[in-house]
Amino acid sequence: MKIKIIIPTERIQSPLIAESMVETGVLLNIMVANIDSTYGELIADVDTTLFHKLKEALEKRGAFVTTLDQPIHWDEEECVECGACISVCPMKVYSFDKEWNLCVDEKKCIRCGMCIKMCPHQALKLGD
Ligand code: SF4
Ligand code: SF4
Repeated sequence: MKIKIIIPTERIQSPLIAESMVETGVLLNIMVANIDSTYGELIADVDTTLFHKLKEALEKRGAFVTTLDQPIHWDEEECVECGACISVCPMKVYSFDKEWNLCVDEKKCIRCGMCIKMCPHQALKLGD
């Protein structure tokens, strides 16, 4: 399952992800990581049966963990087919067909949220 881990400013210097993996023995497959000296946000894949164990370990160290159960939702009525989402999506969810209509392959979405920030017409959202 896909999860989002947020590391707040006051915990950014702490190796809380490594510590949590060592403590629980649960492995994370990190798919997107935006981390600097003030804030961290990661999207990762984790075994569904082990999720709660890892969540507990991360949260007791100050991280915030949420599940990302739904892929991106595209509101076709709002879309102006500008193509901004095509350029930012790391998974090639978006493309234009021969008539320059936007095509969305939701199955590839890893819920990173990059396209939502770029869409000028609020045509994209994550369901959870
Ligand atoms: S960024 Fe938004 S408006 Fe532009 S093509 Fe993508 S979904 Fe449509
Ligand atoms: S959230 Fe948007 S940018 Fe990220 S993988 Fe899904 S469709 Fe692509």
